[in-house]
Amino acid sequence: MIGCPCQVCHSKDEHDKRMRQSIYLSTKQHRHILVDTSPDMRSQFLRSHLTKLDFCFITHDHADHLHGIDDVRPFCFGPPTKDINIMIFKAHQQILEDRFSYIFQRQKIFHAKNPYLGGGLPLLNLQIVSPGTQTLEGEQFTLFELPHGHGTTMGIYHEGMAYVVDCNEIPPAAMSVLKGNTNVLIIDCLQRSPHPTHLNVTMAFEYIREIAPKHAYLTHMNHDLSHVELSKIAKDQFGTSVTPACDMQQIFY
Ligand SMILES: [Zn+2]
Ligand SMILES: [Zn+2]
Ligand SMILES: [Zn+2]
Repeated sequence: MIGCPCQVCHSKDEHDKRMRQSIYLSTKQHRHILVDTSPDMRSQFLRSHLTKLDFCFITHDHADHLHGIDDVRPFCFGPPTKDINIMIFKAHQQILEDRFSYIFQRQKIFHAKNPYLGGGLPLLNLQIVSPGTQTLEGEQFTLFELPHGHGTTMGIYHEGMAYVVDCNEIPPAAMSVLKGNTNVLIIDCLQRSPHPTHLNVTMAFEYIREIAPKHAYLTHMNHDLSHVELSKIAKDQFGTSVTPACDMQQIFY
């Protein structure tokens, strides 16, 4: 955190240098999908040398998961230019349209009398998706709702991998998707003490026991938890099957 004097914020361990939360899926059918456009998106793509993008999910409208969305635009440039779909729950539509009106209301704002000049707009289109199993651009996903304080986050299940972040609970409908079906679980684990909008270590561990994935990766940690400390806490309870995730990590499922 900017200005914080704590040991984790000044750690020399590369695992503790954490950019904002997002994942990139490279599927067996050669589709390339980004989950969340964090404010660090540009740096994350440049350092990973990722060059392809078919579509995005936005899990929810919080700034740390969304505000890099302008940086999707190089993937629209072509040639030929292409539109990119942004999959969202209906609950997040209004905020995205208002906050990024130059992208999502571009037909209204820019027209013959007020043409867009220079740069190149991100050609992004919101596609409203609902909880449940569905095929999106050739890939089967099961989406589910997660409570996140006053809001909702989209949980994502794809071919044995589940992505469960920014939630203070995993409700029964989501648990029924995850239990017995999850090989790789990537799960919210903000800090040691309870938090009104996130899972803490104790809650994440309870859900991991119940879901029983082959491997669980802890993510979205804040500076309460160094990588080394959390590795030890997880190892004491689960052996090698639960580990903290880190930036640039590749996970196979
Ligand atoms: Zn700190
Ligand atoms: Zn977040
Ligand atoms: Zn959030």
